[in-house]
Amino acid sequence: LLCPLVSMAEAQGDIKYKDPKQPLNTRIKDLMKRMTLAEKIGQMVQIDRVNITADTMKNYFIGSLLSSGGSVPALQASAETWVNMVNEFQRGALSSRLGIPMIYGIDAVHGHNTVYKATIFPHNVGLGVTRHVFLDPDLVKRIGAATALEVRATGIQYAFSPCIAVCRDPRWGRCYESYSEDHTIVQAMTDIISGLQGEIPFTHAKGTPYVGGMDKVAACAKHFVGDGGTVNGINENNTVVSRHDLLSIHMPAYYLSIIKGVSTIMVSYSSLNGEKMHASRDMVTGFLKNTLNFRGFVISDWKGIDRITPIPHDNYSYSVEAGVNAGIDMVMVPYNYTEFIDDLTRQVNNKVVPMSRIDDAVKRILRVKFTMGLFENPLGNSSLADKIGCKEHRELAREAVRKSLVLLKNGKIAAQPMLPLAKKAPKILVAGTHADNLGYQCGGWTIEWQGVSGNNLTEGTTILNAIKATVDPSTEVVFSENPDANFINSNGFSYAIVVVGEPPYAETMGDSLNLTLPESGLSTISNVCGTIKCVVVLISGRPVVIEPYVESMEALVAAWLPGSEGQGVADVLFGDYGFTGRLARNWFRSVEQLPMNVGDAHYDPLFHFGFGLKTNPTKTS
Ligand code: BGC
Repeated sequence: LLCPLVSMAEAQGDIKYKDPKQPLNTRIKDLMKRMTLAEKIGQMVQIDRVNITADTMKNYFIGSLLSSGGSVPALQASAETWVNMVNEFQRGALSSRLGIPMIYGIDAVHGHNTVYKATIFPHNVGLGVTRHVFLDPDLVKRIGAATALEVRATGIQYAFSPCIAVCRDPRWGRCYESYSEDHTIVQAMTDIISGLQGEIPFTHAKGTPYVGGMDKVAACAKHFVGDGGTVNGINENNTVVSRHDLLSIHMPAYYLSIIKGVSTIMVSYSSLNGEKMHASRDMVTGFLKNTLNFRGFVISDWKGIDRITPIPHDNYSYSVEAGVNAGIDMVMVPYNYTEFIDDLTRQVNNKVVPMSRIDDAVKRILRVKFTMGLFENPLGNSSLADKIGCKEHRELAREAVRKSLVLLKNGKIAAQPMLPLAKKAPKILVAGTHADNLGYQCGGWTIEWQGVSGNNLTEGTTILNAIKATVDPSTEVVFSENPDANFINSNGFSYAIVVVGEPPYAETMGDSLNLTLPESGLSTISNVCGTIKCVVVLISGRPVVIEPYVESMEALVAAWLPGSEGQGVADVLFGDYGFTGRLARNWFRSVEQLPMNVGDAHYDPLFHFGFGLKTNPTKTS
């Protein structure tokens, strides 16, 4: 006897959804008509890969997994270990009744940053400086393509990137995840989507997700919408914004992302004029899906629906209903999946959540999975393993670092610039907490969610080692983290390079009301710059309070969070390349001015948006 869901023709092998020659919509329709409610709801669930097995995938028909910042498999896991881990879960999903592949997501937000040895690119705050449309329209696209290759090399097919927040206030702990406070720069940077997913053909239907091959990943524009505009830059806070500013500042990058075929969009924890985005049917279904015609899937943030009610689990059913009915298609649960599944099932049976809503969600998820060829190629393999941290990608990251630097001051008298530095000098001093600290250079979202201190986290070049590799062999480089005047005077240095900045942080832990540098960094600036001619290289996720110290410095460079390739900093300091970067943010004088954006009545920055001094390269080759 045949199972009632399977017709005679299909029993003979004619199963339309499995046939790649069938049109996309035919495949989706065919698969959906076979699915039970449990299978549909399973597709809507994304869980953290910790504490589950391949059987979980099979038994609950789980549609997606993630490695969140806190759940890296093991420090220094190889590409092969990753691929095997992902494949094991995938086999679990494939062994379910209908064999629907799962999609595995990860925060690859500046390269494949959870993975040992991966190339770590500058964080977005630095990339915004390259002012892409004017200088190098291709740079972020190439970074996206390199990131996609490294992600795929671990068997993963989905990156929670790019963050297209327009950070209006640097007190926000996620400022460095934002390309700029200016929406035109953020819009230009959505080209990274064409690198991650592939360039969408002009014939592709507007709003439809696009992923161009096995070396590409599904991208995720986040966090919809207004995450960068919260009151006082407080993470996950309320964004109070006029309709005009919402549409002209925070929304345009979403529109462009959709045109570029972005597969998924993540909802913001923040509220919009008092309404939680995770519960906003007007914005998610009304605006994003209906007005902007977005046809990929909408994903919640991590435990995003739990945070709809003020007290988590105070009224979980309400959260589930509000989130799903608002239009969220895939829910990052990420742990209590049985609770979510039971709750949603009950609410569908009680008609609180309409079946049409479930069907819309599943259709969108399957559309992405079919489009990207997951049904045909569900498993990762080791063929791309040597792409992780390869020379070519490190060269690209190094180029990005060079283009992300902003020269804010060069010489106390303009006629006597300090940079570029002489490679040949008897003895130079390198000082500061950030000179020889790869973890600090990379910032948050590197190996660990909050970042790591030190040099063992991954492979790369610290700024100190880059300087040593750049100077003339006859030049002695002395490193001392916080030298005093005696030490400096008795050594007879030609000049000093001071590298200081913020320690790593991520999300709410990075929110700051005072934006001051740590005491250790300030004391190094005053000790060294008070004694000898010095250039200060700032490593920070945003502008910080610097005005009181600028006078003492001979030169000042904003290097943001450059990532693993510190060589890019030395390339420009020593003149192999010129400084080209221009501020993609305003640099405030004091925090009392914040928020302060171009056009504000009290606009009086220390360094204005677009500012950046130039140097000519000294190398002629
Ligand atoms: C962040 C997202 C991230 C997610 C998954 C959340 O805390 O807000 O940007 O993609 O975690 O790790």
